[in-house]
Amino acid sequence: MAQINENYLQLPGNYLFSEIARKINKYKDVHPEADIIRLGIGDVTRPLVPSVIEGFQKGVSEMSEAKTFRGYGPEQGYSFLINQIIANDYHPLGIELTEAEVFISDGAKCDTGNIQEIFGLDNIIAVTDPVYPVYVDSNVMAGRSGQLGADGRYQKIVYLPCTEANGLKPELPQTKVDLIYLCFPNNPTGMTLTKDELKLWVDYARANQSIILFDAAYEAFIQEQGIPHSIYEIEGAKDVAIEFRSFSKTAGFTGTRCAFTVVPKSVMACDSTGKAHELNKLWLRRQTTKFNGVSYPVQAAAAATYTSEGKKQIHEVIAYYMTNAAIIREGLQKLGFKIYGGINAPYIWLKTPGKLTSWEFFDKLLNEVQIVGTPGSGFGPSGEGYFRLTAFGSRENTEKAMERISKLNI
Ligand SMILES: *Cc1c(COP(=O)(O)O)cnc(C)c1O
Repeated sequence: MAQINENYLQLPGNYLFSEIARKINKYKDVHPEADIIRLGIGDVTRPLVPSVIEGFQKGVSEMSEAKTFRGYGPEQGYSFLINQIIANDYHPLGIELTEAEVFISDGAKCDTGNIQEIFGLDNIIAVTDPVYPVYVDSNVMAGRSGQLGADGRYQKIVYLPCTEANGLKPELPQTKVDLIYLCFPNNPTGMTLTKDELKLWVDYARANQSIILFDAAYEAFIQEQGIPHSIYEIEGAKDVAIEFRSFSKTAGFTGTRCAFTVVPKSVMACDSTGKAHELNKLWLRRQTTKFNGVSYPVQAAAAATYTSEGKKQIHEVIAYYMTNAAIIREGLQKLGFKIYGGINAPYIWLKTPGKLTSWEFFDKLLNEVQIVGTPGSGFGPSGEGYFRLTAFGSRENTEKAMERISKLNI
């Protein structure tokens, strides 16, 4: 009989979202008339903006005529999109990139999951706790994690707790780590780092010859000045950081699929003899071998986000979500909740009242006011006692939810 990759046996079941669904269904069985509001989803709800639809449709039309039809495109993406990204997302920040340093893909989830393939199995990885689960699980699958302990932590992974004690900002590792996953603005906590705070990480990486894998999927939600949109705003980061971005949350592409990863030519890692290699070359090799590019109409749609109308329209959608975030923040604050995030990210992370566990608070919200959120413990051991609400719902539901929470018995 063929053998499996036993690393997969180290993964816990996909407990979080199936458990949430099970509890909702159970509640609905008993209360079929209940109007349940979901503020737990990490998915956008507003439609694609008109400029994007126009770009998308034009791309589709071109596919219908032999003269403009396109087959396989470049694996790393079309120049027309890469050049828009460089000119609009990086050049205004004073960051210069060449075309060969930007790789278009069908998602930041795949890229953050796949990137570990170009690194050796002996690298020590560090993750914030709570964390976007993809970073951990992809390393478990590859065999980099060691055994899962009873405390919910893998033995070989270095966890960087983000709790009330440190204001939900990770502290530098006490030991030397090789790969550091950072996501700012953060999912699930909604927190950001200032330039000075992020600089500490870049300095650590330079001093320890580590690589930072920086997930900037939520940079478009930053409202405040002084919060870095790209890690390359930090001096020296171009030698030690890979950056992931996505059109998913920025422009509502969760069902359309387009993202990109920046691998500067200057980021190096060494082989077992100590010889340095460009990670850009390895990622190019990986992508050209295993990936055949994002569909042409989708890249045309993504490029349309950079037209002046497109920029204005996606900005309005983000403002809509961030108004929801403000409604949730202000509502919870008035009720005396201890909250984080929601200022530069569509996530609000709250401390559960009365020392309830994350799941106890989940049950209370569902049973008493029919609102669904996400238990913080599902994002890592340090998420216990916290809870995530998202600003991705409709205005009407967001307002209704806050009205209901104000009647909660706490
Ligand atoms: C939503 C999200 C992404 C984007 O994933 P896509 O595959 O591009 O849709 C990336 N990172 C984090 C932390 C996210 O929450």
